[in-house]
Amino acid sequence: MYLGEKLIKREPFRWGIVGGGKTSQVGYKHRLGAMRDNTSFLLTAAAFDVDAERCREFGVSLGMDADRCYPDYKTMFEEEAKREDGIEVVDVATPNFLHYEVTKAALEAGLHVICEKPLFFEAEQGEEIKKLAEEKGKIVAVTYGFSGFDMLKQMRAMVTSGKLGKINMIELRYAHGFGCDPEGDVKSEGQKWRVNPAKVGKAFVLGDLSTHTYYMSQLICPDQKLKEVLCDRQAFVGSRYPLEDNAYVLMHYEDGAVGRMWCSCVNAGDMSSQHIRIVGSKASLEWNDARPDVVKYQIQGQPEQLLYRGLDYLDASAQEDERIGALHYTGLIDSWSNLYKRFAVVMDAKDRGDEETVKNVIYPDLDHGIDGIKWINACAESADKGAVWVQV
Ligand code: NAD
Repeated sequence: MYLGEKLIKREPFRWGIVGGGKTSQVGYKHRLGAMRDNTSFLLTAAAFDVDAERCREFGVSLGMDADRCYPDYKTMFEEEAKREDGIEVVDVATPNFLHYEVTKAALEAGLHVICEKPLFFEAEQGEEIKKLAEEKGKIVAVTYGFSGFDMLKQMRAMVTSGKLGKINMIELRYAHGFGCDPEGDVKSEGQKWRVNPAKVGKAFVLGDLSTHTYYMSQLICPDQKLKEVLCDRQAFVGSRYPLEDNAYVLMHYEDGAVGRMWCSCVNAGDMSSQHIRIVGSKASLEWNDARPDVVKYQIQGQPEQLLYRGLDYLDASAQEDERIGALHYTGLIDSWSNLYKRFAVVMDAKDRGDEETVKNVIYPDLDHGIDGIKWINACAESADKGAVWVQV
């Protein structure tokens, strides 16, 4: 059980944010996740916003030093580098088209990076950043924010210990209805860039939604290597072409397993967005994010079981993030807090040269970010060629 005690033997990381300002969808999730335990991160500086005045006002309203609320990220990196107490790590929580340039500049400024998904537009950019991060001895982590739920580690432990037998089918879904209204594409600041190919990349929901669920499937089934995808995508709100608001993807894995992903923002009215079902030769597991504390475990020929968070029968890896005891419900911010806890541990280990810990911490790393880019681009290519199989 984890009771918020300090896990790193140093002062909290001095932490800055680019994007994630007052009007953003995701900024508060980062702050809640990072500062939940109050021992790992201290919000020190920010370039929160495209609007410099709004950045400053917002920072001050959070109790920050007005002089450290910067008009843009370049000024922030430059000014912070001059200070003895300058930032050591930065979040990139801007629209997608800025992720690459901000991450690159941050690494060049000697900072660890926590970047939003989808990481960048091209896998080559990911490889270039990987080389730079290695040269600089820094971590680049990706905020697949749903992936910190402890029951996902339970599923991973059951899959890797063979409880399901050989994994045959992976059924994935991230489908909600919040894109049904075309007005949102014009009115919402956060939606406008999501439907603009220059700012979002080659895909809309395949990047915005399905990269989360795809990473979570990798987390649960670390040995399944995706070989090829066949994708059909469409925009039911026609103005979104050539991007999609709905997509179906078939998957082939290297070992013969198969999979399916449905991602959509026009699944009208459905509030249980993410579903994951892993089917093995002997048994299956099922989870959905509307009820993240429970995993359904079905052994062929036996009554099905519900596994609940916080109980002694769970694997030790699932219990280590457990904070509040069984019966009391957790939510998305617990997942974010668990992720940030792992980010702090891995960044601290990297700074101390403890590569063993770096290797063993389970978190969405740069390689997973690059896998997400490959996933999006292979799906988009497949769909645009008329739904043909494309190697990932
Ligand atoms: P948004 O449009 O709601 O907010 C973007 C924020 O970035 C705003 O505060 C804006 O002022 C700021 N910004 C824009 N350009 C900037 C610049 N040049 N410098 C500094 N700040 C700038 O977008 P959002 O929904 O918050 O998404 C931001 C990122 O987070 C995207 O990459 C998105 O995919 C990701 N996201 C992730 C999750 C998750 O669960 N991990 C959830 C939502 C969004």
